[in-house]
Amino acid sequence: MILRNPATEEVIHEFRHATVDDVDTAVAKAKAAGPAWRAMAPADRARLMRRFADKVAEHVDELALLETQNMGMPIGSARWCANAVSDVLHYFAGAVEKHTGSSIPVAGGIDVTFHEPLGVVGLITPWNFPMLMASWKIGPALAAGNTAVLKPAEITPLSTVRIGELALEAGIPDGVLNVVVGPGSTVGWRLVEHPDVRKVAFTGSTAVGKRLMQGCADQVKRLTLELGGKSANIVFADADLEKAAAAAPGAVFDNSGQDCCARSRVLVQRSAYDRFMELFIDAAKAFTVGDPMDPATAMGPLVTADHLARVKKYTDGLDTVFTGEVPSGPGYWHPVMIAAPDYADPICHEEVFGPVVVVIPFDDEADAIRICNDSDYGLSGSVWTQDGSKAIRVVRAMEAGTLSVNSNSSVRYSTPFGGFKQSGLGREHSMHVLDHYTELKNVFFAT
Ligand code: ADP
Repeated sequence: MILRNPATEEVIHEFRHATVDDVDTAVAKAKAAGPAWRAMAPADRARLMRRFADKVAEHVDELALLETQNMGMPIGSARWCANAVSDVLHYFAGAVEKHTGSSIPVAGGIDVTFHEPLGVVGLITPWNFPMLMASWKIGPALAAGNTAVLKPAEITPLSTVRIGELALEAGIPDGVLNVVVGPGSTVGWRLVEHPDVRKVAFTGSTAVGKRLMQGCADQVKRLTLELGGKSANIVFADADLEKAAAAAPGAVFDNSGQDCCARSRVLVQRSAYDRFMELFIDAAKAFTVGDPMDPATAMGPLVTADHLARVKKYTDGLDTVFTGEVPSGPGYWHPVMIAAPDYADPICHEEVFGPVVVVIPFDDEADAIRICNDSDYGLSGSVWTQDGSKAIRVVRAMEAGTLSVNSNSSVRYSTPFGGFKQSGLGREHSMHVLDHYTELKNVFFAT
């Protein structure tokens, strides 16, 4: 397999894919490492995870460079992600000793609940935020006492492989975290089929998520899914339009739109439509696209030539109200685009996973909610208004899991993250995620 830098098209790495046999070896190693990891004093497991987190923090520059060269993420964002990996690991190190059960009074004795680790868990991650997505799964999996086999996306494995090495350097015991790199259909699928893998945690496309759900049915294997989105950014006429417009480009163009939380539909109240559009276009003009190694760059290339072609199927010939500039020369560049197409156009409903946003007018509160929920997806979304009561009514009516008011922020490791409808199953982050990496056991003690 050859990896190319998406900003230059230069070959940066060549490697051999793992095989199904390699997965079996990794699962066997994870299984063998399980009992000692699970039996370790919680404070010791927490201490090792903190050392792992610190190791990552010591290697932020190296990890960021790998991410930028491998997937084209601007270096500032890549550095932010590497620091966030360390923060996530610290948070879950802290959770090791805090995921407590309960005692329940019953006649003749007492019931006590235990959160038991599942055993070996299979973690499958995507290419858009490679190391960050890895940490979202490694943190809770290991904190809960499981051992793991992690399969990063085969086109962006470099930072994840390095994180696996850093785990070993930090003293995480051999076999607790295993990284295998190869195609989803063979290496990833083996994690679904392997009888010793007790759970699969997946982030990726809704199409593959559905297939995994079918694959897991056979063994009633535990499964969590973080899938696609077509998230709405709802701007009411009474909002601070300057603020809403200034934030809107970053909310969809960050990471070249390759973000499941991208606010790729902006819904604007009709009476403020013209003014908002003017401000939005101005803000988008300042969103610079170029060399991801330049700290001033806001947006880099798309991840691969294949993905660029996929995005272009939606955007070639699209009638836009604004199209940005791209660098000349090699690289998988796509300009930022703002469009206001007919509502029936597939681009208003399908996840493009590229730097294009549609703006849709609405009449009133009920109309905004109707358009927002007219989607198979339900991952994230935003509401901009200065009317607090309206904000509460609207977020409660939105069919999405991760929302913000007067902000487009989506994800914090200390708060639950995940989707309604076809955007997923289960939640990541916060103490809630630990329930997805453990079995709840109840024991009755007769007194
Ligand atoms: P994206 O559209 O973000 O590339 P995918 O859903 O194709 O998302 O891929 C996300 C992850 O799932 C990657 O690691 C990929 O290799 C893996 N994957 C793809 N197909 C399968 C499959 N059939 N079984 C298991 N994993 C898969």
